[in-house]
Amino acid sequence: MPRTSEKPVTLSFDNGPHPEVTPLVLDVLARHDIRTTFFVVGQKLVENLDVARRARDEGHWIGNHTWSHSHPFREKGDAAFVASEIDRTQSAIGALAHDDKLFRPYGGAGRRDGALNSVAAEHLRKHRFTCVMWNSVPGDFRDAVGWPDTARRQISEIDWPLVVLHDIHGDAMTRLDRFVSTLKDEGYSFRQELPASTIVIQRGQPTEALGGVLAN
Ligand SMILES: [Zn+2]
Repeated sequence: MPRTSEKPVTLSFDNGPHPEVTPLVLDVLARHDIRTTFFVVGQKLVENLDVARRARDEGHWIGNHTWSHSHPFREKGDAAFVASEIDRTQSAIGALAHDDKLFRPYGGAGRRDGALNSVAAEHLRKHRFTCVMWNSVPGDFRDAVGWPDTARRQISEIDWPLVVLHDIHGDAMTRLDRFVSTLKDEGYSFRQELPASTIVIQRGQPTEALGGVLAN
């Protein structure tokens, strides 16, 4: 049957890998034949490398989401901290990395402004990373029951949503399957590609959107 209102949507999963929750998420995505990006936290990755390998082997992209996920760069952004947060994680990702060296900063509850500072932006530029932000944060980390409704509201208002979910909260992720099914029924098409509007550095090249996320 032709889709009358097909709209793209891209999912991403941050803050894992988690030994139990990430496999459940992967099962759901496989069932629906959907590929996404997992932005992993370095110190969790080294404990759960097999889970990340499974994600990569099933066609998902693995991105870097800092080593410690402890301080947004607006709060702590000296060169040593920046290098440690980014490079240590990229080393741990190793051969699982996407060719574009995907990196997503820690914003703090979805906050974009100041997620990068000039030191971090320069580091990402120099080492030819692609810095991926987001445009939908439905808050699965604080609302395990209501996040799908919040997400659907947000998604309906964005041309190409890039949704941030977290593969570390089991209660919230039990609702992923129904969420995905509902969107499919509503005519959404799931894409792995990342919307250009969410990319602030592309393979080392800053984009127009970079200014909106920079803190001094
Ligand atoms: Zn995060």
